[in-house]
Amino acid sequence: MKKLINDPETCVRESLEGLALAQPGLALLADRLIAVRADRVVTDQNRAEVPVALVSGGGAGHEPAHAGYVAEGMLTAAVSGGVFSSPSVDAVLDGIRAVTGDAGCLLVVKSYTGDRLNFGMAAELARAEGLDVEVVVVADDVALTDSDANAGRRGLAGTVLVHKIAGAAAEEGASLVEVATLAREVSGKLGTMGVGLTPCTVPGASEPGFSLGDDEVELGLGIHGEPGVERVPVQPADGLVAELVSRIVADGGLAADDDVVALINSTGGTPPMELAIVTRAVGAQLAERGIRLAGIVQGPVMTSLEMAGASVTLLPVEDGHFGRWPTLLRARTTALAWPGFADGSAPSTDLPVPATVDHDTASGEPDERVRAAIDRVCAVLLEREEALTALDREVGDGDLGTALARGARAWQQNPVQGSAPYLLRTLSEYARRDIGGTSGPLYAVGLLRCAEEFANGADWPTAFAAGVGAVSELGGARPGDRTMVDALQPAAEAAPQGLRAAAEAAVAGAEGTSQQVARRGRTSYLGERAKGHPDPGAVAVGDWLTALADL
Ligand code: ADP
Ligand code: MG
Repeated sequence: MKKLINDPETCVRESLEGLALAQPGLALLADRLIAVRADRVVTDQNRAEVPVALVSGGGAGHEPAHAGYVAEGMLTAAVSGGVFSSPSVDAVLDGIRAVTGDAGCLLVVKSYTGDRLNFGMAAELARAEGLDVEVVVVADDVALTDSDANAGRRGLAGTVLVHKIAGAAAEEGASLVEVATLAREVSGKLGTMGVGLTPCTVPGASEPGFSLGDDEVELGLGIHGEPGVERVPVQPADGLVAELVSRIVADGGLAADDDVVALINSTGGTPPMELAIVTRAVGAQLAERGIRLAGIVQGPVMTSLEMAGASVTLLPVEDGHFGRWPTLLRARTTALAWPGFADGSAPSTDLPVPATVDHDTASGEPDERVRAAIDRVCAVLLEREEALTALDREVGDGDLGTALARGARAWQQNPVQGSAPYLLRTLSEYARRDIGGTSGPLYAVGLLRCAEEFANGADWPTAFAAGVGAVSELGGARPGDRTMVDALQPAAEAAPQGLRAAAEAAVAGAEGTSQQVARRGRTSYLGERAKGHPDPGAVAVGDWLTALADL
């Protein structure tokens, strides 16, 4: 497995050192894996003043958890172990000592045996030293029940909501009892379940933690790639999300008219596009059940290295007693890793598309000659579809013939009658909409400029030259760059001598491109290798101009 690391032994520390550069106010203790808020390190002078400290941590590999949340409004310190392994008792104790003043400290621990033992023992030792320490264990996993034959519900991404809510309360100056009570209430309400699409590989290991068939996904897994509850065949995102939401809703006894905050978390290797599709599906699932969305947090907040997948967390919030939670989620934090909190107000996803400007050029004398010329050009482009595509296959991506044919077909299916400017503008719209790629916008701009010149009363060679000028301007290509401009430009120059001269100049220009190295377009990546093949876009210009001269 390729990884952007230097050494598996030092990767966690190096990653924390990088974070210390990127996250303002974050500092590291000596050579340890302990990140602290530099402004909250306890000294004899400030011991009496510092607010309640919030300390969390656990194995590395879940970035940005936990050090990424060491910032104003979230954690005061984060203690990291090695990748996927709990920090030692002594490391946790060092972290507690570094930031705990008279107001005390709340430890937020994810429910894994190692973390519970190491953080629990450290809390015990800190108390013996006279520090006021409370512990809250987060077990938001709904995939496993405590009655299952295992260590029970695990701490998952929902933990980050505890960091945020408790962190905001601590920042406001709440007492340790208040912060701890709040954290326990939140963690008691959280429900999380995820789906893994791929496994992940611990740095230095030769194999991923588990294997998964190409056609299966793992439901309900832990954040270290522990097996989930079930392997199911891959299915569309909506179906997988329906499964996750059903289980969380059932576990939490959620019902219509409940208000929930949803956290949609990437397990590390999920592209933002896919995560947003999951978010959309969560919204739809909740709406279907009449459950109201009081807010959304979306992003990679608790990852498992490069695992592809996502988890969904639902936190029911109520008016009154629980009404403060969204406010605390919304409160300011300087943690760059916190993705932000979006109020769950109904989004507008169907605003009207701005109306198109109606050019009143359908009126005016129908121009039979221009109409016949366009008909002919489209017929030729359809005849030449395969030949042009074959040429584009040699030096491009093999779509030019089909692309131009799409434009031609659009005209044939919906031809219009009217003045020359109207005809050319309509053709420009079809080119814009149906040709696509590089040629689409270039033909569209050329035709549009041409139409404007005609509307201003120009003759055809002048209008044609203006259109060619527009292609050059928008595409940035000049003669010699091996593009359609190598056919268009000489044709525009010859146009005052008539269509035949223009067509011949275009064909000669297109032939000349065989000896050129492309400086524009896709072919430019081929360098010398394109030599011997003419530029397909230039050949197309020669083809339709010749057809026009033959009319
Ligand atoms: P692609 O598939 O690469 O997006 P098309 O297949 O639609 O593009 O068109 C390829 C043709 O576009 C080329 O043969 C060339 O004639 C023309 N072309 C590429 N870049 C430019 C440019 N910057 N200006 C003018 N014509 C260009
Ligand atoms: Mg192409």
